[in-house]
Amino acid sequence: MTFYLSGFRSFPKLWKSNPYFELGPATSSASFFLGVHCVIGNQQRWFSVKTTPPNSKILNLLVTKARTLKKGNDSNKQASSGPHYFAAGAAKKRSHLSGNPQNQGHTLPVKSTVQLPTKPLNSKEWDKLKEDFKGKASFEDFVISQMTRSCSSVDVAKSLLAWVAAKNNGIVGYNLLVKYLYLCVFHKQTSEVIDVYEIMKAKYKSLESGGYTLLIRGLIHSDRWREALLLLEDIKKVMVPSKKNYGDCIQGALLHQDVNVAWSLYQELVGHNLIPLLETLKAFFDHGKDMNDDQYSNQLLDILLYLRNNQLYPGESFAHSIKTWFESIPGRQWKGQFTTIQKSGQCSSCGRAIESIHLSPEEYEFLKETIMRDVIDGGDQYKKTTPQELKRFERFVKSCPPFDIVIDGLNVAKMFPKGRESQNLLSVVSQLAQQNLQLLVLGRKHMLRPSSQWRKDEMEQVRKQAHCFFADNISEDDPFLLYATLNSGSHCKFITKDLLRDHKACLPDVQAQRLFFKWQQGHQLAITKGFLKSKLTFQHILSYDTVVQTTGDTWHIPYDEDLVPRASCEVPTKWLCLQRKTPAPC
Ligand SMILES: [Zn+2]
Repeated sequence: MTFYLSGFRSFPKLWKSNPYFELGPATSSASFFLGVHCVIGNQQRWFSVKTTPPNSKILNLLVTKARTLKKGNDSNKQASSGPHYFAAGAAKKRSHLSGNPQNQGHTLPVKSTVQLPTKPLNSKEWDKLKEDFKGKASFEDFVISQMTRSCSSVDVAKSLLAWVAAKNNGIVGYNLLVKYLYLCVFHKQTSEVIDVYEIMKAKYKSLESGGYTLLIRGLIHSDRWREALLLLEDIKKVMVPSKKNYGDCIQGALLHQDVNVAWSLYQELVGHNLIPLLETLKAFFDHGKDMNDDQYSNQLLDILLYLRNNQLYPGESFAHSIKTWFESIPGRQWKGQFTTIQKSGQCSSCGRAIESIHLSPEEYEFLKETIMRDVIDGGDQYKKTTPQELKRFERFVKSCPPFDIVIDGLNVAKMFPKGRESQNLLSVVSQLAQQNLQLLVLGRKHMLRPSSQWRKDEMEQVRKQAHCFFADNISEDDPFLLYATLNSGSHCKFITKDLLRDHKACLPDVQAQRLFFKWQQGHQLAITKGFLKSKLTFQHILSYDTVVQTTGDTWHIPYDEDLVPRASCEVPTKWLCLQRKTPAPC
């Protein structure tokens, strides 16, 4: 009895970007099923296979290649000089400068006491390997886990399962089976996926979400893709499917030209308040370029507005898909250019002005009220600030004129490790005071106690040049900073290195979060280095809003470059400019 090992089907779009998609809950909840055994019975032949070793070589090569690429990306450093505070890659650069080992060590530590085979082993060879195994865990579970981690070839994993099945009267545990499935899905061996699917269907009434997720991902490439939709229904019986589950089913529907199913799944996904994966949205654009359908086109434009409302940015290849789709619309003559925006806020390609970073008076009032309510009075999140102290602060603010700049004193003092803290603070305050600005310095009471870092004379000079409020040492500064800045009006800026991410998260909805981020970009001042010796300079505040936008005849779409990592507090610097040469017929 021979087994046919299918060739490699290629669906590069779906797989190329994600060599390590997670095993998901399969790993964690698999133990629940460990006791349930899969009797393969008359399908025992399934695991007794003549495998095809040459493939494993190619696969290992590919995997190694993927890893090298990944490594390359990790160590990629941005060479651009002095990026904007919110510019993509700036946080990463800052973390490099401060020697923060963040984002390092992506590779999993492999504490293997077993040298993983690179080609299929026979029974004797597996027996020998097991004898040498010194670990505490079950040998089979340990080896299959290592195999999924290093993306071993399917034939090697299959020889393991065949060995286990032969020893246990054809019984292979769920854990082994699901990890084998993972490898089949990873290596896109669709016919193998279908075989595992049949076994699972025969043996289990239902699976856990990790198993479903893998089966869906594997099935959507086959003729039996509609069965992936049934698995999605099974998941829905116990939980809301993940955006990955929806994304896979949508991609399956699009691959098989069923756009109605794809859009209705998309509506369902968004209806659950899940943020779709960018690759799912990209798939709609990729599919759209072969169509000439107004309804479909309008749905794609809705996706662009969705990106706008949720402050999302397409990746580089997604931006290319958007460009290609626009340029493919018959009769509209859209032309796309990849470009940047000038400091003045004009598009370098078409010269049009990008939307201003400034909030409208209505937006400002809305944001101010929301922040006052949810972040400052919001209670639980800010137990570190007492209501009494907040009252004291409110009275203090009311007694002062509106401020021009609110300074996070402790943060500014620590911004430059070389100088004494009070000296740093005084230097910033004096230079700003010379410009006749109303200043507020927020500090802690301990700053008034003379110490090696805090000199009394320097703090006295600070107090002469700025309004100062010293909170209890245990208080959080941020609520005070936000309150004082917002209360002073939209001209008021603030200085802190802190990016206030926690506060953004406290806001009730995406609209408020988006306004907060926009306000922050327009009002947070960042000091550039070396101010003790030279004149105090701030990084340029962008005058325009980095967000997907349209005027009808134009679209401007910021996008992320593949090789530039961007922190959540940063915005992209590259744009896709789309303009229409001739107006559309009404
Ligand atoms: Zn433009």
